[in-house]
Amino acid sequence: MRLLAIGCFHGKFPKGLKRYVRANGIDAVLALGDFPGERLRSYEQSFVLMRKNEYSFYVFQEATASSKRFKKLKKLDGEDGVKILKRLDSLGIPVFVIHGNHDETRRDPWFAGGSMLLEDVVRKLKNMTYLDYAKSNVGGYDLVFLGCKYPNMRGDERGSARKKKLRVRKEERSKLVKLIMDPRKTIIVAHQPPYMTKLDRVNDKRVPGYGHHFGDDVLRLVIEKKKPALVLCAHFHENQGTQKIGKTLVVCTGYGAKGQAAVIELKKRLHVKLVRVR
Ligand SMILES: [Zn+2]
Ligand SMILES: [Zn+2]
Repeated sequence: MRLLAIGCFHGKFPKGLKRYVRANGIDAVLALGDFPGERLRSYEQSFVLMRKNEYSFYVFQEATASSKRFKKLKKLDGEDGVKILKRLDSLGIPVFVIHGNHDETRRDPWFAGGSMLLEDVVRKLKNMTYLDYAKSNVGGYDLVFLGCKYPNMRGDERGSARKKKLRVRKEERSKLVKLIMDPRKTIIVAHQPPYMTKLDRVNDKRVPGYGHHFGDDVLRLVIEKKKPALVLCAHFHENQGTQKIGKTLVVCTGYGAKGQAAVIELKKRLHVKLVRVR
Protein backbone atom coordinates (compact mmCIF):
# COMPACT_ATOMS: atom_id res chain seq x y z
CA MET A 1 0.00 0.00 0.00
CA ARG A 2 1.50 3.30 -1.10
CA LEU A 3 0.21 6.74 -0.05
CA LEU A 4 1.03 10.18 -1.35
CA ALA A 5 0.81 12.96 1.27
CA ILE A 6 0.63 16.48 -0.12
CA GLY A 7 -0.64 19.75 1.37
CA CYS A 8 -0.53 23.51 0.86
CA PHE A 9 -1.90 23.73 -2.68
CA HIS A 10 -2.89 27.41 -2.33
CA GLY A 11 -4.82 27.32 -5.61
CA LYS A 12 -2.16 25.51 -7.64
CA PHE A 13 -2.41 21.91 -8.77
CA PRO A 14 1.06 20.48 -9.45
CA LYS A 15 1.35 19.77 -13.14
CA GLY A 16 2.67 16.23 -12.99
CA LEU A 17 0.50 14.98 -10.12
CA LYS A 18 -1.84 12.79 -12.16
CA ARG A 19 1.05 11.24 -14.06
CA TYR A 20 3.04 10.73 -10.84
CA VAL A 21 0.14 8.95 -9.11
CA ARG A 22 -0.26 6.53 -12.04
CA ALA A 23 3.45 5.93 -12.68
CA ASN A 24 4.24 5.24 -9.02
CA GLY A 25 1.29 3.02 -8.16
CA ILE A 26 -0.14 5.39 -5.53
CA ASP A 27 -3.18 3.78 -3.87
CA ALA A 28 -4.54 6.80 -1.97
CA VAL A 29 -3.81 10.51 -1.44
CA LEU A 30 -3.66 12.31 1.90
CA ALA A 31 -4.47 15.96 1.18
CA LEU A 32 -3.20 18.04 4.10
CA GLY A 33 -5.21 21.24 3.64
CA ASP A 34 -4.77 24.82 2.38
CA PHE A 35 -6.66 24.47 -0.91
CA PRO A 36 -7.78 28.10 -1.70
CA GLY A 37 -5.81 30.52 -3.88
CA GLU A 38 -3.39 33.15 -2.63
CA ARG A 39 -4.86 36.50 -3.66
CA LEU A 40 -5.97 37.31 -0.14
CA ARG A 41 -2.70 35.97 1.25
CA SER A 42 -0.64 38.34 -0.90
CA TYR A 43 -2.82 41.26 0.23
CA GLU A 44 -2.49 40.07 3.82
CA GLN A 45 1.28 39.62 3.59
CA SER A 46 1.85 43.13 2.32
CA PHE A 47 -0.09 44.31 5.35
CA VAL A 48 1.71 42.00 7.77
CA LEU A 49 5.15 43.00 6.52
CA MET A 50 4.16 46.62 6.94
CA ARG A 51 3.29 46.09 10.61
CA LYS A 52 6.34 43.99 11.56
CA ASN A 53 4.52 41.97 14.17
CA GLU A 54 4.09 38.21 13.95
CA TYR A 55 0.46 38.40 15.00
CA SER A 56 -0.53 41.28 12.77
CA PHE A 57 -2.55 39.01 10.46
CA TYR A 58 -5.19 39.08 13.19
CA VAL A 59 -5.07 42.87 13.05
CA PHE A 60 -5.30 42.66 9.26
CA GLN A 61 -8.42 40.47 9.41
CA GLU A 62 -10.14 42.69 11.90
CA ALA A 63 -9.32 45.79 9.85
CA THR A 64 -10.29 44.51 6.41
CA ALA A 65 -12.73 41.57 6.74
CA SER A 66 -15.80 43.67 6.02
CA SER A 67 -14.32 45.45 2.98
CA LYS A 68 -15.43 44.73 -0.60
CA ARG A 69 -11.88 43.89 -1.64
CA PHE A 70 -11.45 41.29 1.11
CA LYS A 71 -14.75 39.61 0.20
CA LYS A 72 -14.01 39.53 -3.51
CA LEU A 73 -10.51 38.09 -3.08
CA LYS A 74 -11.81 35.55 -0.60
CA LYS A 75 -14.48 34.36 -3.05
CA LEU A 76 -11.99 33.98 -5.92
CA ASP A 77 -9.56 32.13 -3.65
CA GLY A 78 -12.35 29.81 -2.51
CA GLU A 79 -13.26 29.00 -6.11
CA ASP A 80 -9.63 28.08 -6.81
CA GLY A 81 -9.77 25.73 -3.84
CA VAL A 82 -12.87 23.98 -5.17
CA LYS A 83 -11.07 23.42 -8.49
CA ILE A 84 -8.14 21.79 -6.68
CA LEU A 85 -10.48 19.46 -4.78
CA LYS A 86 -12.26 18.47 -7.99
CA ARG A 87 -8.98 17.69 -9.70
CA LEU A 88 -7.83 15.58 -6.75
CA ASP A 89 -11.12 13.72 -6.87
CA SER A 90 -10.63 13.05 -10.58
CA LEU A 91 -7.43 11.07 -9.84
CA GLY A 92 -9.83 8.14 -9.37
CA ILE A 93 -8.31 6.84 -6.10
CA PRO A 94 -9.40 7.51 -2.50
CA VAL A 95 -8.46 10.98 -1.24
CA PHE A 96 -8.51 11.74 2.50
CA VAL A 97 -8.84 15.45 3.25
CA ILE A 98 -8.13 17.55 6.33
CA HIS A 99 -8.44 21.33 6.69
CA GLY A 100 -5.58 23.82 6.91
CA ASN A 101 -5.71 27.34 8.29
CA HIS A 102 -6.75 28.68 4.86
CA ASP A 103 -9.80 26.41 4.51
CA GLU A 104 -13.28 27.33 5.67
CA THR A 105 -14.98 24.74 7.83
CA ARG A 106 -17.39 24.56 10.74
CA ARG A 107 -14.72 22.41 12.44
CA ASP A 108 -12.43 25.41 12.80
CA PRO A 109 -12.98 26.65 16.37
CA TRP A 110 -12.38 30.24 15.18
CA PHE A 111 -14.77 29.91 12.20
CA ALA A 112 -16.54 33.18 11.49
CA GLY A 113 -18.91 32.13 8.68
CA GLY A 114 -18.37 31.41 5.01
CA SER A 115 -20.04 30.09 1.89
CA MET A 116 -17.62 27.49 0.48
CA LEU A 117 -17.15 25.12 3.38
CA LEU A 118 -14.66 22.31 2.81
CA GLU A 119 -16.94 19.58 4.21
CA ASP A 120 -19.80 20.67 1.92
CA VAL A 121 -17.60 20.66 -1.20
CA VAL A 122 -16.04 17.30 -0.33
CA ARG A 123 -19.42 15.67 0.36
CA LYS A 124 -20.35 16.08 -3.31
CA LEU A 125 -17.14 14.46 -4.57
CA LYS A 126 -17.11 10.74 -5.10
CA ASN A 127 -13.61 9.61 -4.10
CA MET A 128 -13.10 12.04 -1.23
CA THR A 129 -13.55 11.90 2.54
CA TYR A 130 -13.13 14.86 4.89
CA LEU A 131 -11.94 13.86 8.36
CA ASP A 132 -11.27 15.76 11.56
CA TYR A 133 -10.54 13.95 14.80
CA ALA A 134 -11.47 10.73 13.09
CA LYS A 135 -9.53 7.71 11.97
CA SER A 136 -9.50 5.28 9.13
CA ASN A 137 -7.66 1.95 8.95
CA VAL A 138 -5.58 1.79 5.79
CA GLY A 139 -3.16 -1.04 4.99
CA GLY A 140 -3.05 -2.23 8.60
CA TYR A 141 -2.31 1.24 10.04
CA ASP A 142 -4.65 3.61 11.89
CA LEU A 143 -4.58 6.97 10.16
CA VAL A 144 -5.66 9.63 12.66
CA PHE A 145 -6.74 12.85 10.95
CA LEU A 146 -6.85 16.31 12.50
CA GLY A 147 -7.35 19.66 10.87
CA CYS A 148 -5.72 22.90 11.97
CA LYS A 149 -7.00 24.26 15.31
CA TYR A 150 -4.41 26.87 16.30
CA PRO A 151 -4.51 25.78 19.95
CA ASN A 152 -1.32 27.53 21.16
CA MET A 153 -1.68 30.32 23.68
CA ARG A 154 -0.50 33.62 22.21
CA GLY A 155 -0.21 35.19 25.60
CA ASP A 156 -2.55 38.08 24.86
CA GLU A 157 -5.84 36.20 25.22
CA ARG A 158 -8.13 37.64 27.85
CA GLY A 159 -11.59 36.84 29.23
CA SER A 160 -13.78 34.66 27.03
CA ALA A 161 -11.12 34.34 24.30
CA ARG A 162 -8.76 32.86 26.88
CA LYS A 163 -11.41 30.50 28.22
CA LYS A 164 -12.20 29.29 24.71
CA LYS A 165 -8.53 28.72 23.90
CA LEU A 166 -8.06 26.71 27.10
CA ARG A 167 -11.14 24.63 26.25
CA VAL A 168 -9.92 23.97 22.69
CA ARG A 169 -6.53 22.85 23.99
CA LYS A 170 -8.07 20.48 26.50
CA GLU A 171 -10.54 18.98 24.04
CA GLU A 172 -7.91 18.59 21.35
CA ARG A 173 -5.51 16.83 23.64
CA SER A 174 -7.99 14.34 25.08
CA LYS A 175 -9.66 13.58 21.72
CA LEU A 176 -6.31 12.90 20.11
CA VAL A 177 -5.06 10.69 22.96
CA LYS A 178 -8.25 8.61 22.80
CA LEU A 179 -7.84 8.01 19.04
CA ILE A 180 -4.41 6.40 19.45
CA MET A 181 -4.88 2.73 20.32
CA ASP A 182 -1.67 1.06 19.09
CA PRO A 183 0.99 3.79 18.70
CA ARG A 184 3.30 1.60 16.61
CA LYS A 185 0.50 1.23 14.09
CA THR A 186 -0.65 4.86 14.17
CA ILE A 187 0.02 7.61 11.68
CA ILE A 188 -1.16 11.12 12.60
CA VAL A 189 -2.17 13.20 9.59
CA ALA A 190 -2.14 16.88 10.57
CA HIS A 191 -1.81 20.30 8.94
CA GLN A 192 0.59 22.00 11.39
CA PRO A 193 3.87 20.44 12.50
CA PRO A 194 4.35 19.83 16.22
CA TYR A 195 5.88 22.72 18.17
CA MET A 196 9.63 23.29 18.55
CA THR A 197 11.25 21.34 15.78
CA LYS A 198 13.22 22.49 12.76
CA LEU A 199 9.98 21.92 10.81
CA ASP A 200 7.93 24.66 12.52
CA ARG A 201 10.55 27.42 12.54
CA VAL A 202 10.04 30.47 10.32
CA ASN A 203 13.15 30.55 8.16
CA ASP A 204 12.19 33.41 5.88
CA LYS A 205 14.06 36.55 7.03
CA ARG A 206 11.46 38.83 5.44
CA VAL A 207 8.66 37.49 7.62
CA PRO A 208 8.03 39.18 10.99
CA GLY A 209 8.04 35.88 12.92
CA TYR A 210 11.54 34.99 11.65
CA GLY A 211 13.31 32.56 13.95
CA HIS A 212 10.15 31.79 15.94
CA HIS A 213 8.36 28.43 16.16
CA PHE A 214 4.67 28.27 15.28
CA GLY A 215 3.90 24.56 15.48
CA ASP A 216 1.08 22.96 17.44
CA ASP A 217 2.16 22.42 21.05
CA VAL A 218 -0.81 20.22 21.92
CA LEU A 219 0.23 17.87 19.11
CA ARG A 220 3.77 17.89 20.50
CA LEU A 221 2.53 16.90 23.98
CA VAL A 222 0.47 14.04 22.53
CA ILE A 223 3.44 12.80 20.47
CA GLU A 224 5.62 12.75 23.58
CA LYS A 225 2.94 10.95 25.58
CA LYS A 226 1.75 8.37 23.02
CA LYS A 227 4.76 8.00 20.66
CA PRO A 228 2.93 7.31 17.37
CA ALA A 229 5.04 5.80 14.57
CA LEU A 230 4.65 8.68 12.14
CA VAL A 231 3.27 12.25 11.97
CA LEU A 232 2.61 13.85 8.59
CA CYS A 233 2.15 17.60 8.29
CA ALA A 234 2.57 20.59 5.96
CA HIS A 235 1.92 24.33 6.66
CA PHE A 236 5.60 25.42 6.64
CA HIS A 237 6.18 25.79 2.92
CA GLU A 238 9.93 26.21 3.17
CA ASN A 239 10.45 23.28 5.55
CA GLN A 240 9.99 20.05 3.59
CA GLY A 241 11.95 17.61 5.75
CA THR A 242 11.94 15.10 8.58
CA GLN A 243 12.76 15.08 12.27
CA LYS A 244 12.50 12.56 15.08
CA ILE A 245 10.76 13.29 18.38
CA GLY A 246 11.78 10.27 20.44
CA LYS A 247 10.61 7.25 18.45
CA THR A 248 8.21 9.28 16.32
CA LEU A 249 9.20 10.30 12.82
CA VAL A 250 7.75 13.70 11.89
CA VAL A 251 7.55 14.52 8.18
CA CYS A 252 6.75 17.96 6.78
CA THR A 253 5.64 17.42 3.18
CA GLY A 254 6.40 21.06 2.27
CA TYR A 255 4.77 23.19 -0.41
CA GLY A 256 2.33 21.19 -2.53
CA ALA A 257 1.83 24.10 -4.95
CA LYS A 258 5.41 23.47 -6.08
CA GLY A 259 4.95 19.69 -6.13
CA GLN A 260 6.61 18.93 -2.79
CA ALA A 261 5.13 15.82 -1.18
CA ALA A 262 5.97 12.56 0.60
CA VAL A 263 5.39 8.95 -0.39
CA ILE A 264 4.61 6.54 2.44
CA GLU A 265 4.95 2.83 1.94
CA LEU A 266 2.79 0.88 4.39
CA LYS A 267 4.62 -2.36 4.96
CA LYS A 268 5.49 -4.15 8.18
CA ARG A 269 7.82 -1.22 8.69
CA LEU A 270 6.96 2.23 7.43
CA HIS A 271 9.05 3.70 4.69
CA VAL A 272 8.86 7.42 3.91
CA LYS A 273 10.41 9.29 1.00
CA LEU A 274 10.28 13.04 0.36
CA VAL A 275 9.51 13.74 -3.29
CA ARG A 276 8.99 16.57 -5.77
CA VAL A 277 6.16 15.89 -8.20
CA ARG A 278 6.78 17.50 -11.58
ZN1 LIG B 1 0.06 26.40 3.39
ZN1 LIG C 1 -1.23 26.35 6.51
